[in-house]
Amino acid sequence: MRKMAIFCVAYIFWGWGNLGLSAAQPVLFPEPLSQRIANYRIEVRLEPETRKLFGTETLTWHNPSNDWIHELQFHLYLNAFRNDRSTFMRESGGVSRGRRIGKDGWGYIEVTAISLSGGEDLTDRMEFIQPDDGNPDDKTVFRLPLPRPVPPRGTVVLDIQFEAKLPTPPFARSGAKEEYFFVGQWFPKIGVYENGAWNCHQYHAHSEFYADYGVYDVWITVPEENIVGATGVEVEVKKNGDGTATHYYHAEDVHDFAWTTSPEFLVYEERIQDVDVRLLLQPDHKNQARRHLEAAKVAITHFQDWYGDYPYPNLTIVDPRRGAAGSAGMEYPTLITAGTMYGLPDGIRAVEAVIIHEFGHNYWYHLLASNEFEEAWLDEGINTYTEMQILNDAYGPVGDVVDFLGIRINDLQFQRYQYIFWPDYDPIVKKAWEFYNGTSYSVNSYSKPGLVLTTLKNYLGAEKMRQIMRTYFQRWRFKHPRTADFIAVAEEVAGEDLGWFFDQALFSNKVLDYAVSAIRVRRVREPRGFDFTLSVKDTSDTAGVGAFSAQSDSQKASAAAETSRVTVSDSADTTKKPVPYENEVWVRRLGDFVFPVEIQFVFDNGDTLTEHWNGRDLWKKYRFVRPAKLEYAVIDPERKVVLDVNFTNNSMTRKKQRAGINKLSIRWLFWVQTLLDQPELLTLAQLFRF
Ligand SMILES: [Zn+2]
Repeated sequence: MRKMAIFCVAYIFWGWGNLGLSAAQPVLFPEPLSQRIANYRIEVRLEPETRKLFGTETLTWHNPSNDWIHELQFHLYLNAFRNDRSTFMRESGGVSRGRRIGKDGWGYIEVTAISLSGGEDLTDRMEFIQPDDGNPDDKTVFRLPLPRPVPPRGTVVLDIQFEAKLPTPPFARSGAKEEYFFVGQWFPKIGVYENGAWNCHQYHAHSEFYADYGVYDVWITVPEENIVGATGVEVEVKKNGDGTATHYYHAEDVHDFAWTTSPEFLVYEERIQDVDVRLLLQPDHKNQARRHLEAAKVAITHFQDWYGDYPYPNLTIVDPRRGAAGSAGMEYPTLITAGTMYGLPDGIRAVEAVIIHEFGHNYWYHLLASNEFEEAWLDEGINTYTEMQILNDAYGPVGDVVDFLGIRINDLQFQRYQYIFWPDYDPIVKKAWEFYNGTSYSVNSYSKPGLVLTTLKNYLGAEKMRQIMRTYFQRWRFKHPRTADFIAVAEEVAGEDLGWFFDQALFSNKVLDYAVSAIRVRRVREPRGFDFTLSVKDTSDTAGVGAFSAQSDSQKASAAAETSRVTVSDSADTTKKPVPYENEVWVRRLGDFVFPVEIQFVFDNGDTLTEHWNGRDLWKKYRFVRPAKLEYAVIDPERKVVLDVNFTNNSMTRKKQRAGINKLSIRWLFWVQTLLDQPELLTLAQLFRF
């Protein structure tokens, strides 16, 4: 079995005076898998007509440090949607994931009472703070000075009452739409205490989250006819006799908790490897149930086979209702949201890509709790990389995300399409709210890291790269790895210093672009001049010489005397002396990113040579004297260096040197290079002069 622990239903009776509940508490794992610093017991009731939540929360927080803790800090994420003055709304301009909040769709959360367990009321001590931007209107973080400090390794227990209202339609992950509710980032949640301070950032338009692990016991009261899906496992459902039912969920070693409810869900259950998958599907997507489950199978099997065990017993996949796409494509521990539309063709693998991506977060964020506020790439970027690998393995090698009406596009091409128009606004490692804009955040958190890691994979080899990912995952499970931890694992497994690569790829905005800039082929002449008889006519057969004449002049006199850099082809006819040619190729590094590349030279007699260039100089000239003319030269013929922002300048043929190509827009170039692999599209393009 892959699982570290089996879902052994060892029921323990747990006195639960505070909420007036007593319940059988299951034990998922015989030993804690994490430090279990932040532990929650929450009773929440949904009032569907008003979109309100009424909650009672008991937080048991263990001080993981050797410090005396004088105050606690909490997130109140739903306050991002209180009004248009919150930091989230100011940064986003009121638009998230392409959607605006409804006219009267505001949401909020109020802590109505907070006390030490046992009774000492601390409500008046609460104070909103804005550690990131000082925006006095932002109420997404509050501090709570304590009457007595929490001692080193000590514990504090707080009772919290809260009331919240969900935005509509679902906006930035959370909210309500008619009968459908998706409830994420919904309860008062403690920050992370580390390095002598609280790490508790405001809710920003372009950042995600950071939290400590713990155990969650959550009682969710909804209309009796409703179906519920949530983080963790459902322990029991109790009808309350007033038209409502209470669903009790239990989760261990997770750092967040989300839930959904609707009376409309169609429920599908299937065991995939050792994971109980439960799909909550919208009725109008009924004929796509199999696609969802097949995608879950691809995700679960690849992640477990390639990177490590998924320790939780189950996974819930939620299909958001029409009009609720603001809650689509999101990840929570053991619960993800997908997203589809009626009649989506099989060849457009949006459902598959989203499920593989969101399930991946259960590894790169839920099992490795990196700080998404400060280093988003560690989750989204690594996850984009694994999504690209899995999609390609399962549905590739070509057309892994789109294979429809003869059009075939790989995820790699989509990621490049995002990246190449925004390659240099920011480095990858940066706080999420400090990027130039949302596009730069997204390029540097998703696409570029995906391409950085693919380039690294092609440099080190696929198996070595998988070993890096596996080692990183195994070593840092249930901890908070940082960028330096990833680099250390990569270097250790690769057995080499990779600082030269990561410094450029993660910490700089350097752009990688190599080009073949000129080719010149001339027949080698007899020597002439003062010491020689002037008898041979210049028979040069050349193009694109101008820019390089200064260098080529110095070569002229000695051309015939020089030995070829490479062995002349065996097929050379020795009885009839072949005409030797001087073949010269100039290659340039157009960007600041230095990376070793292969250059292939192909001659008209079929000979092919490959040279390695370390790329350190701004340009390099290759010269071959051979009994054949160079047909073309190509840098990185296998396109391993996918960070190269322009593939169209990577090659040049002798006959058609196209200096004017740079005048074309980069967008056009992208589609040209994408279309080159699409014969059907090219035909269409020719027909319509596209
Ligand atoms: Zn993601």
